[in-house]
Amino acid sequence: MTRGFFIGRFQPYHLGHHEVLREILREVDEVVIGIGSAQESHTVENPFTAGERVMMVDKALEELKKDIGEKKVYIIPLEDVYRNSLWVSHVVSLCPYFDVVYSNNPLVIRLFKEAGFRVKRTKMFNRMSYQGTEIRRRMICGESWEDLVPKPVVEVIKEIEGVKRLREIVNSDV
Ligand code: ATP
Ligand code: MG
Repeated sequence: MTRGFFIGRFQPYHLGHHEVLREILREVDEVVIGIGSAQESHTVENPFTAGERVMMVDKALEELKKDIGEKKVYIIPLEDVYRNSLWVSHVVSLCPYFDVVYSNNPLVIRLFKEAGFRVKRTKMFNRMSYQGTEIRRRMICGESWEDLVPKPVVEVIKEIEGVKRLREIVNSDV
């Protein structure tokens, strides 16, 4: 039985994350998804709360049901600790046990490797558009972004009026 770990900020959860998760679920029995920078919300970089991001991932998982069957996915919000040398033990202390880490982020790879974990790189999917920064930019500029995220994520963002929030907080008082 193997359990994989995949971490992101998911601001928002998009089709790039979705494809990575689909691939991971082909290889392992269970997955732990870490919601990084869980304490952050209502900023331009991190507009959505941890709870809202949990909803995005959880509802998007429904779409993978036919691929993953009954495989269990745990979604764990993880606050930042602002100390890289302690970060892996912080993550481990809050998550179900996992054997293999999936990431393309150089710092994440480095820290888990130093801690002795098996780390696997993931493929990049349409990284020009499937990128949180690009999706938030489109939301702010009033461009279409809906085709870059799973359908259930569109619904969550509509329900919480996420685009309105982002467009409000991007304004300054000057
Ligand atoms: P931001 O622009 O806000 O940083 P992001 O798209 O990089 O958003 P993150 O939540 O930072 O999203 O990413 C989490 C993980 O998902 C990272 O390891 C990142 O490399 C990976 N990832 C992000 N987009 C893609 C993609 N299109 N294909 C494959 N992996 C991706
Ligand atoms: Mg990123």
